[in-house]
Amino acid sequence: MNAYIEEVLEKVRKRNANEPEFLQTVEEVLRSLEVVVEKHPEYQNTALFERLTEPERAIQFRVSWVDDNGNVQVNRGYRVQFNSAIGPYKGGLRFASHVNLSVLKFLGFEQIFKNSLTSLPIGGGKGGSDFDPNGKSDGEIMRFCQAFMTELYRHIGPNIDVPAGDIGVGGREIGYLFGQYKRIVGAYENGVLTGKGLSYGGSLIRPEATGFGAVYYLNEVLKHENDTIEGKIIGISGFGNVSWGVAKKAAELGAKVVTLAGPDGYIYDPDGVVTEEKINYMLEMRASGRNRVQDYADKFGVEFFPKQKPWGRKFDICMPCAYQNEIGMPEAEAIRNNGTKYYIEVANMPTTNEALAYLMNEGLIVAPSKAVNAGGVAVSSLEMSQNSERLSWSREEVDEKLKTIMYNIHKVSADTAEQYGLGYNLVAGGNIAGFMKIADAMLAQGIV
Ligand code: GLU
Repeated sequence: MNAYIEEVLEKVRKRNANEPEFLQTVEEVLRSLEVVVEKHPEYQNTALFERLTEPERAIQFRVSWVDDNGNVQVNRGYRVQFNSAIGPYKGGLRFASHVNLSVLKFLGFEQIFKNSLTSLPIGGGKGGSDFDPNGKSDGEIMRFCQAFMTELYRHIGPNIDVPAGDIGVGGREIGYLFGQYKRIVGAYENGVLTGKGLSYGGSLIRPEATGFGAVYYLNEVLKHENDTIEGKIIGISGFGNVSWGVAKKAAELGAKVVTLAGPDGYIYDPDGVVTEEKINYMLEMRASGRNRVQDYADKFGVEFFPKQKPWGRKFDICMPCAYQNEIGMPEAEAIRNNGTKYYIEVANMPTTNEALAYLMNEGLIVAPSKAVNAGGVAVSSLEMSQNSERLSWSREEVDEKLKTIMYNIHKVSADTAEQYGLGYNLVAGGNIAGFMKIADAMLAQGIV
């Protein structure tokens, strides 16, 4: 164990004692950087890790709005501007009842490395609110988004901080947020948000990007193992935007996603979520605001398992696409005992540190979410490029760029791990490769 890393971890633990999700990711990342620190005394001299683990800015604000019954509701809004060494802060907004500062600091911290891995010029940030959009009317969603932006607008801008979607924030919410931003600033700065609709500066392939990118990355892993995606059985959790992109691309490439999961339980479809009708129905389920996956089972006559997770089943590939920490030790043991070979994280930090270490030690091929799900933010960055040049690119052009980006992320992660004598360790390789660019930029810019 490296003494400097230990010292930093101790300080971070003390300072953020009530932020378990944030401590979890810092611990995971910093441990994998031990091999790098040994070769770089300048990191210690410049307190690089103390600076890296402290957000440049964390804004918290009140969001007051009026519900359909005329009652005043008060939520908490946040934006964590974590690191701007390589570009304007970039990262999504999450609207969910579990949102708090710890969750957004974990997401913002991970975003720094993820964004760096894309090789595009974007810093790390994240924001959101404890507002729960489930069951809210369209009018309530709009009024909430307007109230949220009325405070947020002063902290963001196309060259400052560029939010996008995440859980609970999709195309509709981005539209309302952008409308309010434009109304307040009185200028058409559409590069201030990404994930926009096509009619006002959105990019083709952005809705598909996270899921497609994850499958492109998976494909690189399979190639590395002299394996192919054809005929593979994939177990996933979630049924939102990311799961939809994974199911769609997997089906296109001849694999099948056989489970979907929500807070109510999971469905098992042995024929796979492969037809256009089933894949499109995922969008309908999400848009309904009911947050129930049982609707799929009812519609297509497949089995539904109330209040259960899908990980007890046998799959070739597991791709958790829902929430942080959905895979703890019991789930990891089930996955291992079922003989799964590939564990591909898609949701941000879906695995506890203990479960992650276990799966790697047990010889599964593990790919980390910071790399696997980077396609979403990568295409967000391509949306920013298109907004800057006031042009829009074809579907093929964006998809081709996304493929190249995912290929490069896998390659740089694998090569970096190899270079440090770690074998095919995509988790450490991704962390180190993402970190090196940030460290270079931070050192070059002096003590700020
Ligand atoms: N929320 C997504 C993520 O976790 C996308 C962020 C973005 O497009 O800025 O990376």
